Amino acid sequence: MTGQEPIVIVGAGPAGIAAAGVLVAAGLRPVVIDQAGTGGGQIFRRPEPQLSRTLEDLYGFDARRARRFRDDFHRLLPNIDYRPRTEVWDAKPGVLHLVDNGVVGIQRWSRLILATGAMDRVIPIPGWTAPGVYSLGGAQIALKAEASLIGRKVVFSGTGPLLYLVSYQYAKAGAEVVLLEAGRPFSDPGNLLPLASGGLGFAKGVYYMAWLRAHGVRLLTDSSPIEITHDRHGRAAGFVFRRRGVVTRLPCDAVAIGFGLQAETQIADLLGVAFHFADLQRQWLPVADAEGRASAEGVYLAGDGLSVRGSEVAALSGEAAAMALLKDIGRPRPAMFGRHRVIRRADRFRHALDRAFPFPVTAVCDLDDRAVVCRCEGVTAGAIRATASSSGETEINRIKSFCRVGMGRCQGRLCGPVAAELLAGMASENIQSVGRLRSQAPLKPLPLATLAGTR
Ligand SMILES: Cc1cc2nc3c(=O)[nH]c(=O)nc-3n(C[C@H](O)[C@H](O)[C@H](O)COP(=O)(O)OP(=O)(O)OC[C@H]3O[C@@H](n4cnc5c(N)ncnc54)[C@H](O)[C@@H]3O)c2cc1C
Repeated sequence: MTGQEPIVIVGAGPAGIAAAGVLVAAGLRPVVIDQAGTGGGQIFRRPEPQLSRTLEDLYGFDARRARRFRDDFHRLLPNIDYRPRTEVWDAKPGVLHLVDNGVVGIQRWSRLILATGAMDRVIPIPGWTAPGVYSLGGAQIALKAEASLIGRKVVFSGTGPLLYLVSYQYAKAGAEVVLLEAGRPFSDPGNLLPLASGGLGFAKGVYYMAWLRAHGVRLLTDSSPIEITHDRHGRAAGFVFRRRGVVTRLPCDAVAIGFGLQAETQIADLLGVAFHFADLQRQWLPVADAEGRASAEGVYLAGDGLSVRGSEVAALSGEAAAMALLKDIGRPRPAMFGRHRVIRRADRFRHALDRAFPFPVTAVCDLDDRAVVCRCEGVTAGAIRATASSSGETEINRIKSFCRVGMGRCQGRLCGPVAAELLAGMASENIQSVGRLRSQAPLKPLPLATLAGTR
């Protein structure tokens, strides 16, 4: 390092851009890297310019915030080194490895703010690898970024607030929607009061639910998925589920599955950041102090990549991380007036959501042996169970080396948590003792020709 390396932010969502705003206000010019073509992250994802849709159409209740985000982002642009369509595929202390429009390169950093957001959490259902089956986020991306529906008759299966939001967005866009909720979020009176403390967030959820019911959308709680059936071309054509002992098959032409979100933590992992197991979310999360300082030298964490807490907390935590960074490099920093209080209040709501929409562990433990858990390598739940039984092992990295679960292109981002739950369930072990898959580069699929520099 020369000592002149810049401050780098990975992620141009609410957290990354809020962090950039604080640094720019302090007279710095951070590098902001994002694999997406436009700033906004998941919540404010934008369509290509030729698809003209109003912010109200795209973001509903969040249109005002989206407009503010877009204006702030455009104001910042001349003062940041913004690198859209640039993916971080490996990370070492002081260096990020990038692929930028098909060309590999490196970016050195003196301080690094990771604001990498979250991704869908999926439980595999036999038949989920068929065309026509999407993750919930994938279904929303089709709508937001491409103004397309994944189907006309869509079954949404899973749990979590996003399930209701995306079902509402699809029904509003003209799809015939059935929403199958795995749990019973409002049946426990113990959930209601803490949820109601969420104010506007809670009101939005109630509105989506009421809208869906008022427009005749079937919304069935306690619904356990069994299988996705196909037509003769192999496309998704039906959804079989069990509810109160009754098995039902719904005809459909598309399915979206989502069981909450999981933090994107791979870059932090490659950099040696310490992790802890968060019981409520049932996830391994990177450790940071209250201001976002991670245990690795010069690394800060913010937003959903630290812990999934929604876009408002993401922005506040981005500001907090940038302010911590300013303090650490001896620059004056603005005060965090009231921000920590707002974060604490939002955290209470998030905990209430996590309790109301718990990850359905039994649905994983009861997975049919035929269910393909690792779709990159074609490893089924049955194969994972058989490997654990024959080897006597339950540590997930050992199981990976025996049966290749998590060894494919997604590097276990999707299947790792499911495989861990399966192993813990069959051995009646605490999931923490099963461990977590170690992150490996390349973090995202990367053509060999790109790596070799021949493309
Ligand atoms: C699929 C999905 C859809 C969602 N939709 C909604 C919604 O409609 N409404 C809502 O309220 N909340 C939604 N959420 C939750 C919401 O996105 C977050 O709470 C909020 O956007 C978090 O902000 P963030 O800045 O932490 O992360 P994000 O907004 O997720 O931004 C992270 C950014 O990091 C970039 N990134 C990640 N890894 C890399 C890498 N290796 N290289 C380069 N760039 C990288 C991503 O491209 C992304 O732009 C959604 C979440 C997901 C996962």
